[in-house]
Amino acid sequence: AKEDGRKTFSYFTAELGVAAQKRIELETRLRRAVEREEFILHYQPKLAVDGGRIIGCEALLRWLSPDLGLVQPSDFIPVAEETGLIEAIGEWVLRKACRQAVQWSRHGLPELDVAVNLSARQLWQAELPVRIAGILHETGLDPNRLELELTESVIMGQETLAAERFGQLKSLGVKLAIDDFGTGYSSLAYLKRFPIDVLKIDRSFVRDIPDDANDMAIAAAIVAMARALRLTVVAEGVETLAQLAFLAEKACYAYQGYLFSPPVPAEDFERLLAADSAR
Ligand code: C2E
Ligand code: CA
Ligand code: CA
Ligand code: CA
Repeated sequence: AKEDGRKTFSYFTAELGVAAQKRIELETRLRRAVEREEFILHYQPKLAVDGGRIIGCEALLRWLSPDLGLVQPSDFIPVAEETGLIEAIGEWVLRKACRQAVQWSRHGLPELDVAVNLSARQLWQAELPVRIAGILHETGLDPNRLELELTESVIMGQETLAAERFGQLKSLGVKLAIDDFGTGYSSLAYLKRFPIDVLKIDRSFVRDIPDDANDMAIAAAIVAMARALRLTVVAEGVETLAQLAFLAEKACYAYQGYLFSPPVPAEDFERLLAADSAR
């Protein structure tokens, strides 16, 4: 039995060693990626449920690594957050997305809102409001065209600081969105306390429409509540016409999802936008 225990132990440390090493490698590559700007943004259209026009987009980060290929955010954002690299990456994302939105306007395309995801660590940076003000000034983007998406989990346990930061961000004139709404705690209390403009219904409540009666009840309730509070409500992850029909029936304002388009490179998004504004 003693022998077994030792074997298990050494097996365990060997496994841990491999994982730790991989993690360090990823961190090194990510650090280099920041210096060499190996990132790109894809843009996913946000559409009006009523009429189907493109009314905005969400910028989603991709890492084009020379060694690893195209890396999805779920495979590197957690490491970027732990190491603090997300602060530099996040600032790059903000600048790039704002610049892109201004460029589309210069190309004569409709003036859309652009949404950017913020991580917890970015929100807690004391300089964040000043940095964003600088980026808005430098790019010339109208502040009310920038939407910052934050998840409920970011706020949890930090309500006082979050309220202060939200206030500072709002005073820049930007919009604030709660992402993945319904998956965290105290959602309803937050709505009252924070100056929020947009609720994004998490994909998990949309996915099983029209088969799951509970999800349909939750999605419908979120839409009704958002409307009563005069918040914009957006459904994420809409993949089917049945889901869209349900959202239309409940008078949900906007949607995003593979039904219309996945996140695409800037040039492709520009084409979608041009086609939409020509119709
Ligand atoms: P999120 O903000 O909830 O973004 C929505 C995710 O759902 C995106 O995954 C998008 O590609 C995916 N999606 C959109 N429509 C559909 C659909 O119809 N069906 C399905 N199955 N999926 C759909 P993505 O791009 O892999 O991003 C994953 C997460 O990574 C994001 O979740 C966000 O939390 C984070 N992320 C992405 N870009 C950034 C960034 O610039 N900064 C930070 N801090 N986080 C980011
Ligand atoms: Ca988001
Ligand atoms: Ca989301
Ligand atoms: Ca989500």
